[in-house]
Amino acid sequence: MSAGPEEIAAAVVRLRERGLVAFPTETVYGLGALAIDERAVRRVFELKGRPDANPLIVHVSGEEMARRVAAAWPEDASRLAAAFWPGPLTVVVDRADAIPAVVAGGGPSVAVRCPSHPLTLALIETLGEPIVGPSANRSGFVSPTSASHVEEEFRDEIARGEVMVLDGGACRAGIESTVVSLVTPEPTILRPGVIGASEIARVLGRPVVERAGSEHAAAPMSSPGRMASHYAPRTRAILADRRELPRAITAAEGPVALIALAGPALPAAHRVIQMPADAIGYASSLYRALRDADASHAILIVIEKPPSGGPDAEIWRAIHDRLSRATAPRG
Ligand code: AMP
Ligand code: MG
Repeated sequence: MSAGPEEIAAAVVRLRERGLVAFPTETVYGLGALAIDERAVRRVFELKGRPDANPLIVHVSGEEMARRVAAAWPEDASRLAAAFWPGPLTVVVDRADAIPAVVAGGGPSVAVRCPSHPLTLALIETLGEPIVGPSANRSGFVSPTSASHVEEEFRDEIARGEVMVLDGGACRAGIESTVVSLVTPEPTILRPGVIGASEIARVLGRPVVERAGSEHAAAPMSSPGRMASHYAPRTRAILADRRELPRAITAAEGPVALIALAGPALPAAHRVIQMPADAIGYASSLYRALRDADASHAILIVIEKPPSGGPDAEIWRAIHDRLSRATAPRG
């Protein structure tokens, strides 16, 4: 059931009173709090169990509000906002004093984006202030792509009235925004998403650096989504090629959940989740699949390695980024 004007009005009141509101976006659900209020922001870190050094993305209703969040708003930021907002692109710029340091993990920069969801745009516009919005899940685990996923994550807090959930349906994009830093010497992709480096480079008219690999805790971290284990189900998960699937399943000492591309002759497993073969469809279904697999009482999740080339290579790249973290050993 999608929320209406009354729920939006209630959510605005809640945010003004420094409360928390989980909100829908086109990527994943966020756990929202007034970005200019240090206490409210700290509560978000506490509820998620998120390390202090992991900065939050500030969500705005448009470029004008973004300029208030930033100490300086470079020409490149304007170009990217004009091309991709509202949409799944986050830009990192110098942080304005109005945004408390806690938002940015103590660092001098801030990540900003304007999400493409009518409910959330109405929410931020009516509030008249930016909101922080990390994914509405416990730190390190699978991001929520529906209101019911958020309810699973924060059942007690919702029951206590501490967290309100705005239901905006299932998320279209399904994986987190692309993060591009404009405070580095060259524009740098810190986290891949459905908006690819080549599209960004085309808009900026210059090359964009893609940082590969992951990093471990260092304070403040340049990008927490780059931790080796993140976006991970609670059940152990591994990646395997199609021809290795039967062996991976039979070698397990208990029930297996299989996440594989839809098609004939899939091996049998305790639970089989078939994924769309197109990159957009795959991305939007990925976290729901991981949650379903996690809930299936399997002892192991086997994920078929999806393709990586073709016209949607950049989206597959973002998907592989999430899959490698979902299957990384926790450390
Ligand atoms: P999440 O909200 O859980 O999707 O994670 C926030 C993401 O935003 C991280 O993965 C970072 O890549 C990025 N981020 C937020 N703030 C900053 C910042 N000040 N500098 C660099 N990256 C940031
Ligand atoms: Mg997250």
